[in-house]
Amino acid sequence: MPQSHIPVQKRAPIKRLVAIGCAVTLSFLAICGFVIAGMADRDYEQARRSSENLVATLSANIAGTIDALDLSLQGVQEGLKLPDLDRIDPAIRNMIMYDRSATSEDVGSILALDRDGNVTSESRSLTPRKDNFAARDFFQHHRDYADTGAYISRPHVTRQGVHVLTISRRIDDFDGNFNGVVVAALKLSYFHNLLKGIRIGAEDTLTINTADGTTLMRMPFDIAMVGGDLSRGRIFSELKKSPMGSFETFAASDGVRRLTAYQKAGTWPLIVGAGRSVTEIYAPWKREALMIGAIVFVLCAFNVALVAFLAFSLQRRAAAEQELAIIATTDGLTGLCNRRRFDELMESEWRRAQRSKTGVALLMIDVDHFKYYNDEHGHLTGDAVLAAIAQCIAGSTRRAGDVAARFGGEEFAVLLPATSLQDAADLAERIRDAVFALPASTKGILTTPTVSVGVAAAFPRPDNQPADMVEAADKALYQAKASGRNRSVKAPVLGAGKSKLAA
Ligand code: GH3
Ligand code: MG
Ligand code: MG
Repeated sequence: MPQSHIPVQKRAPIKRLVAIGCAVTLSFLAICGFVIAGMADRDYEQARRSSENLVATLSANIAGTIDALDLSLQGVQEGLKLPDLDRIDPAIRNMIMYDRSATSEDVGSILALDRDGNVTSESRSLTPRKDNFAARDFFQHHRDYADTGAYISRPHVTRQGVHVLTISRRIDDFDGNFNGVVVAALKLSYFHNLLKGIRIGAEDTLTINTADGTTLMRMPFDIAMVGGDLSRGRIFSELKKSPMGSFETFAASDGVRRLTAYQKAGTWPLIVGAGRSVTEIYAPWKREALMIGAIVFVLCAFNVALVAFLAFSLQRRAAAEQELAIIATTDGLTGLCNRRRFDELMESEWRRAQRSKTGVALLMIDVDHFKYYNDEHGHLTGDAVLAAIAQCIAGSTRRAGDVAARFGGEEFAVLLPATSLQDAADLAERIRDAVFALPASTKGILTTPTVSVGVAAAFPRPDNQPADMVEAADKALYQAKASGRNRSVKAPVLGAGKSKLAA
């Protein structure tokens, strides 16, 4: 049965609400993702900056210490050129040659050596020790190279068992020939003292290396690593490109991924490195991200639940409105259009037919001797007969635009847009046959119900109205009743002239 007479509720508001809910949730997630990613970048950059600042401070400190020591060596270099130095009282001579920086706790005695490597004077004793350093790398370097600049040796253990590295300068005679070496020892404890006060994470490292890759000090402290060779480490390939910088890599020694900042100590061939474990850099961020993520998840879930609840409420409301619309437009007993809806549709169809200059037809159907059913079988059986006849009417109409309605009491009407009088009469006969064929016994009815039908058709014009067509159909129905019932009668076509619909 065509249901076009029931107003259709639109679902657009629900779809719009769900779309807005999804958009808000996704935007929320995108913003949070963006913020959390930004926090990670910020933490990483902060770690890089603080590592770079740390190595800058440490390298400045080391450069300052070695600069001061070198100045002391230069003082000795100059002092040794003084005439008649040998005849000066040893105490005064030492005061002239060795300045106070040479008395620092981390610095061993400054020694002046002759061209054979024998100690000729030393900063901390008026009686120079009996020792020879001709076999040491620094002595051989100065003896073999005329360069008078400072030389930093590899770290080694002194005869007294102290880990040191030496800073030394060559002494020339007045002709520029090799005449000995002045050397100072810097204890590796200096580097240890420098680094030990710095708090680092469990997987972080601080290193001080010579330029050839020898480890002078490392934190966390491990004596076994002092003197080790790190020349194949990434720092030394980076150092060729720039004297300072940072990079991220897996440490070959322990497999920890670190962000390492490095810097050369001034002009000295010593490199300070600070490695921060990438896992530790991101640890606080991970905690915050998890917390924010959890909060955002709860908010999003709340948002989704709210949208779902609103959508559900809207849907329920739409369904209720749809039900109301059906109730307002449908006859409860038969399921056909009610009279009010029929009148509305008749009006609009009439105007449409007027605009498109097409015809419209109408069947008025009345149950024959219906009073008899009520009187004989009771009202409930009468109702069942009316419902069954309505099914016959609805089942006989075929086109979507056809409107079957309960006109009132035991009368029905069928509005047939763009239908000729003859086609309408054919439909009237089909309905009549269908009603006649109703299996009366199954409904407890002894007599088969029949219907009489008045058939009318009209070309809507400004000078005629829907009521005219209803009246014409009514008249035809009256004729059908009068001529014996259980039949259909056609009324003349209204406003037809010589139209083919009049056939
Ligand atoms: P006719 O062939 O001349 O139409 O005879 P009729 O008995 O059908 O006509 P009449 O107008 O005398 O009686 C109509 C009856 O229809 C009277 C009324 O009780 C009954 N009727 C109207 N509406 C309903 C309804 O909703 N349910 C039931 N059971 N009966 C109804
Ligand atoms: Mg009647
Ligand atoms: Mg009747």
